[in-house]
Amino acid sequence: MAGAHLCAGKGVIMTTIGTEQRPMWIAVIGAGPAGFYAIEALLKNDAPVRVDIIERLPTPFGLVRSGVAPDHQSIKGVTRIYDKIMADPRVRFFGNVSMGTDISHAELLAYYDQVIYAVGAQSDRKMGIPGEDLIGSAPATNFVGWYNGHPYYRNSQFNLDIHERVVVVGNGNVAMDVTRALLAPIDELAKTDMADHAIAGLRSSAVKQVVIAGRRGPVQAAFTTPELKEFGELDGVDVLLDPVDFVLDPVSAAHLAENKVAGRNHDVMQGYMARGLSGAAKSIHMQFLWSPVEIVGHNGHVTGVVMERNRLVDDGNGNVKAEGTGAKRTIACGMVLRSVGYRSVALPGVPFDEKRGLIPNMDGRVIDLANQTPIERTYVVGWAKRGPSGIIGTNKPDSVATVASMKADWESIGARVPAERTGHAVATVLQSRSAQVVTYADWQKLDAHETQLGTAQQRPRVKVVDVKEMLDIIKR
Ligand code: NAP
Repeated sequence: MAGAHLCAGKGVIMTTIGTEQRPMWIAVIGAGPAGFYAIEALLKNDAPVRVDIIERLPTPFGLVRSGVAPDHQSIKGVTRIYDKIMADPRVRFFGNVSMGTDISHAELLAYYDQVIYAVGAQSDRKMGIPGEDLIGSAPATNFVGWYNGHPYYRNSQFNLDIHERVVVVGNGNVAMDVTRALLAPIDELAKTDMADHAIAGLRSSAVKQVVIAGRRGPVQAAFTTPELKEFGELDGVDVLLDPVDFVLDPVSAAHLAENKVAGRNHDVMQGYMARGLSGAAKSIHMQFLWSPVEIVGHNGHVTGVVMERNRLVDDGNGNVKAEGTGAKRTIACGMVLRSVGYRSVALPGVPFDEKRGLIPNMDGRVIDLANQTPIERTYVVGWAKRGPSGIIGTNKPDSVATVASMKADWESIGARVPAERTGHAVATVLQSRSAQVVTYADWQKLDAHETQLGTAQQRPRVKVVDVKEMLDIIKR
């Protein structure tokens, strides 16, 4: 525990931090899984810490609420752990407060002993090809936000009732999620917490086929086996694959022999090819070794994607990369969802690595890129720390590692933040900056409202998707 003494100018106040009299005050920016796992590690063993969660939305839980697929309800059970953390008397929730507009990084450092950024990856990667901005071309992340009722995406327009074919670029698990959302029987999705506007939109959808295009081969696919198996379990949906994509180069064949996930995926896909087509009205066409080189359109709207055939070449690091062969074809479609990964967004006053799209750090300590040394009392966890990879559980060891760095720094940081600037003072400042701060009790009220509506419809919850409506319900 830190034993530093606080000297507040002339009238010297001697205080020891990391004690019940002067706990460590820590701000966590972002209420997603990585932030909660960091708080869990900080609270361990009755540590004398106080943690304030600052979240721009009125709702907690980040991607568990607005990223996890509606048909994966069991994964959302993890919020029970986060809920317990929020209920801890050492933790306070300040929802509807934005770092950057309501409070700056410099102010956070003035009020807290340590600041953790747990802001995730709020944006999407661009493909950098012509036509990306046509109407009907959108990041898969927007579509995910739309069907999950994220307030920022609720007004996005997806014209699902016009076109029969959608092309999804990339073959990670997000691509799998959006494909199921597009083709799963709507009566099944309507039993979930999918946003009501998305259920209505999908009910009148004309989409009959989703083409998922991976730029490399089946062995390099980024999706995992449970998600792949789910395709085969969708009622009224055939899965198509091209046997020519399974003629493997030597590097892929060796990888297949060594890698268990690739092997399991390969088996499942071979099973789909052996099973053939049932003549179902809907289909998923999984294509490999194709890269989009242009999105084409008419009157500003997407009408197709030009794809170039790839071959796999040695990348010099023991793996293979896609290289265009020059052979092209156009797939007619009305919508393209670019599912090529997320990207973090720079925060004012906080270092950012534009090239890697994350907050630069060493062992979770945020560093100044110019001199590669840690900046003052600032830390990072989750996707903002390591990039957009891994499942929810991956964040736990990642956050524990950052908290180990924070604890190692407790002795050296001393009590730079005067005791009188913590606690009540910061609460007053945040109240004055946000139009309406949402507390944990407020969130519980909104949560109860949503779950009660859900119970009436035999659904887990009915999400409120508009921030103003959320705040009105809380005020009522
Ligand atoms: P991801 O797993 O990194 O997949 C991105 C895909 O985009 C890869 O297939 C990649 O191909 C491809 N890609 C990248 N740049 C491209 C380009 N310029 N042209 C064509 N293809 C391109 O990312 P994600 O699907 O967004 O998922 C993010 C993380 O969340 C992952 O770790 C994922 O497992 C996780 N997640 C998990 C679940 C779940 O557990 N159910 C659900 C959703 C997300 P290359 O391999 O060739 O780079």
